[in-house]
Amino acid sequence: MDPWHRRQPGGGGSGVIRYAHGGVHGRRISTRQPAIAYYAPDGSRLSDAAARGFAADIHAVDAVLGEEIARSAPGASYRDVTEVALARQHWDAERTQRAREFLEHRCEEQYGVQIEQLAAHGLDDDAIDGDEVVFPDGYDVLSQHLAHGLDMRLGHAVTRIEWSDRVSIRTAEGDFRADTAVVTLPVGVLRSDSVEFVPALPQVNFEALLRLDMNAFEKVFLRFPSSFWDAGVYAIRQQGPQGGWWHSWYDLTAVHGEPTLLTFAAGDAARCTREWDDARVAESVMAQLRRLYGERTVSPTRIHRTAWQDDPFARGSYAYMKAGATTADHDDLAAPIGRVLHIAGEATWTADPATVAGAMFSGHRAAERILKRRVPIERAWSPDVSSD
Ligand SMILES: Cc1cc2nc3c(=O)[nH]c(=O)nc-3n(C[C@H](O)[C@H](O)[C@H](O)COP(=O)(O)OP(=O)(O)OC[C@H]3O[C@@H](n4cnc5c(N)ncnc54)[C@H](O)[C@@H]3O)c2cc1C
Repeated sequence: MDPWHRRQPGGGGSGVIRYAHGGVHGRRISTRQPAIAYYAPDGSRLSDAAARGFAADIHAVDAVLGEEIARSAPGASYRDVTEVALARQHWDAERTQRAREFLEHRCEEQYGVQIEQLAAHGLDDDAIDGDEVVFPDGYDVLSQHLAHGLDMRLGHAVTRIEWSDRVSIRTAEGDFRADTAVVTLPVGVLRSDSVEFVPALPQVNFEALLRLDMNAFEKVFLRFPSSFWDAGVYAIRQQGPQGGWWHSWYDLTAVHGEPTLLTFAAGDAARCTREWDDARVAESVMAQLRRLYGERTVSPTRIHRTAWQDDPFARGSYAYMKAGATTADHDDLAAPIGRVLHIAGEATWTADPATVAGAMFSGHRAAERILKRRVPIERAWSPDVSSD
């Protein structure tokens, strides 16, 4: 069992699948019992028994981590609480360090941020009920379905949102007026000066916004002429100082049938490699894979990586809770503004922030607040939604 996630879902076969930003979200790829290949700091593969022992260590830390998070002081970071949980194990330095770096990597890969920067409660919601699926043609299919039949204006960059008893939106393509508006700008955009609120956001929303921030998290896809990693392995993880940046790879071959590994540049790695060209990133990643696979390693034929940090309409991948934030900050950010303005988006959904599901539920909540009545969310998924 992969201990990547802090909260272990209950009951095998319950339909509860662990969720990871880093995991393959596939067309119903089975991730119930993923085969994880762990590599020791010297590059040798851990035996099954050693890997099970390591996973048990992480579970032991997780078993007390919840208590430590619950009693953490305001302002505590995820580093603070994990260090207390580690100290409670009374392990030797080497064993403690292996677990520590795993916790660091989990934090970076889940939230794209260094462990010292994430709030103690920042990983409270790292599990989602339901199957894990990939949209092989891209997530677009989801938003296109939801948008079907609506008057969508793309390419309208908003620069100013004026609110009083109505709302006025300024874009380079013209102004729009409405009785109410739902604002789904990412936290990175809200925190920048690219969109002006007039008057400024009320204190409750503004202060919540200050305690959240946009992360640095990029995907790096490497396509190979042939696979050189062990068959049946879904995730590759390396331990030790060499794995500071590149520590986890996921086999995506099943998605498109071509040997492909996905790894992540997260936190410091994402910021430091931001200016690098593809060849330099590929070489940096491959240096680590060569440590693990030696002469079996083949060079990639293609590299593709995301650049969410450089997208002025995103300014990062998704938001995280800074040390000092509380989970209530998500809801506070969405507090209705002057009865006319509603902020929605992934960062406003306390139960599952940083997810597509959270983004959608928050939009649904905003719509219900405007309509002042319940609307079954199932209607959004209905194939004949447009005829409603
Ligand atoms: C690398 C990566 C991996 C992820 N993995 C997962 C995963 O496995 N599972 C999961 O559930 N979620 C995952 N997420 C998170 C998920 O994609 C987000 O939580 C979700 O897309 C957020 O939706 P949103 O509507 O809040 O914001 P966004 O999707 O960011 O939408 C905001 C919109 O606002 C627009 N915009 C910005 N500024 C302006 C402006 N000035 N004027 C007009 N429009 C503007 C943007 O163009 C964008 O269309 C991942 C994200 C990334 C980047």
